[in-house]
Amino acid sequence: MVQTPYQTVIGLEIHIQLSTQSKIFAPEKFSFGQKPNHQVSLVSMAHPGSLPRINEAAIQSAIKLGLALDCSIQSPTYFDRKNYFYPDLPKGYQISQDAKPICGPGKVQFPDNQGNIKEIRIHHIHLEEDAGKSIHELSPHYSMVDLNRAGAGLLELVTQPDLESPEDAAALLMEMRRIVRYLGISDGNMQEGNLRCDANVSLKPWEQKELGTRVEIKNINSFSFLTKALEFEIKRQTEYLQEGKKIIQETRTFNPSNGRTSSMRDKESADDYRYFPEPDLLPIKISPENLDKVKRVLPKLSSKRYQDYRKNQIAHNEALTLIEDQKLADYFDQLSAITGNFKEALNWILGPVKAHLNEENISIAEFPLEVHKLAELLSMILEGKITRHLAREKAFTLMLASPNEGIKEIAKEHDLIQENNEDELEELILKILKENPNETERFKSGQKKLQGFFVGKIMKASKGKANPKKVNEVLRRLIAKF
Ligand code: ADP
Ligand code: MG
Repeated sequence: MVQTPYQTVIGLEIHIQLSTQSKIFAPEKFSFGQKPNHQVSLVSMAHPGSLPRINEAAIQSAIKLGLALDCSIQSPTYFDRKNYFYPDLPKGYQISQDAKPICGPGKVQFPDNQGNIKEIRIHHIHLEEDAGKSIHELSPHYSMVDLNRAGAGLLELVTQPDLESPEDAAALLMEMRRIVRYLGISDGNMQEGNLRCDANVSLKPWEQKELGTRVEIKNINSFSFLTKALEFEIKRQTEYLQEGKKIIQETRTFNPSNGRTSSMRDKESADDYRYFPEPDLLPIKISPENLDKVKRVLPKLSSKRYQDYRKNQIAHNEALTLIEDQKLADYFDQLSAITGNFKEALNWILGPVKAHLNEENISIAEFPLEVHKLAELLSMILEGKITRHLAREKAFTLMLASPNEGIKEIAKEHDLIQENNEDELEELILKILKENPNETERFKSGQKKLQGFFVGKIMKASKGKANPKKVNEVLRRLIAKF
């Protein structure tokens, strides 16, 4: 790595929109892409006299994420009002958590782009409600407000400023997407805005202990925007510092069309928000039994899976492909457990299986072959009953076409069983040698490259059923005495 003049320091605030059946304090569900203002109850509209009610599933989602990330769970936890005025916030305040967030400090591990495992400290995770959306493009004279999203449940995860590069920031965010999907608490879909983040970045001379002045880039909704926004900001701050200018603490926004960040406003401080405990909601106690219950059902997380795969010599990119989809990783784990051969299982998953999923644009959950069926095919290969070539090119396709039939029947019906009968093979090879007298003569006189010519012909004549290793062996033996 080139030594840059300044050390980069990054901390993220990650917003995770919960996929619960109803909003966090209101009865209706929010789902992306619906008609504006069609998912809005009196509570979300801040109708006078309406009161919030806490959604138990939102609390359980927070506990799941907290326990998965080794956070302390705070009980009792309570909500605070964060006061600010904005057209998409009808109450004039957001119900959030300030003094006693549900999850205290924790940590998260993720693989960086080189496959090293990094660990970042989590400052806390809190629950809050989302705001609505202002739409400025529909009219030249007015701004419109869509309140569908108002009141949707959010978890905000705040990291310590432990990240050292834009690439690491993006890699951490990808890990977070996997984690919330594995836990089933959010769709983690950045295009639909249910995973987004604010990125804080500052620079400091390497030898300096105190952190530099930070800038916060708001509302980033794609992995590549996160990297680009941070890269731009690092360059801008470097130039400022080199010219002896001061960085001001402010909130900036990233403009994807020119790749630049620009100032939105000076940073608000906590005082500006006049936080105070939400009087319409009671503090929430979380029992140790509740925590035990969640702990028992926590799945094996992506970074743990990644590390186990790497220990088994699976390459960084291959391990990433597997862990990206929890169900795919499950399928792979079962396939390698049943066949007892993870190399074979890996090649099948990343080869023909993945190719089929891509072609059909389906997920592994919709893949027609139960893992036992595919395992049978792999076992036949490993036992030498079918060549790998025929298994890939013929048997696999036939199995996909009739997923309920067993591979043994399919293989018999379509004559795919590998011939291991040496007499028959010898006969076949002798026939081919006789049919090609010129080549046979040249091969005999030492032209080694003709081996390939003959093996090809023999494999073709056997309809791919001959065992290639055997063919090579018998061919060499026969040509010596031909
Ligand atoms: P606020 O609540 O005002 O947004 P916090 O101090 O809680 O501010 O920090 C918010 C985020 O900014 C955290 O993710 C933290 O890691 C990050 N952060 C704080 N100080 C710095 C800094 N000097 N440089 C980069 N990131 C920082
Ligand atoms: Mg902040």
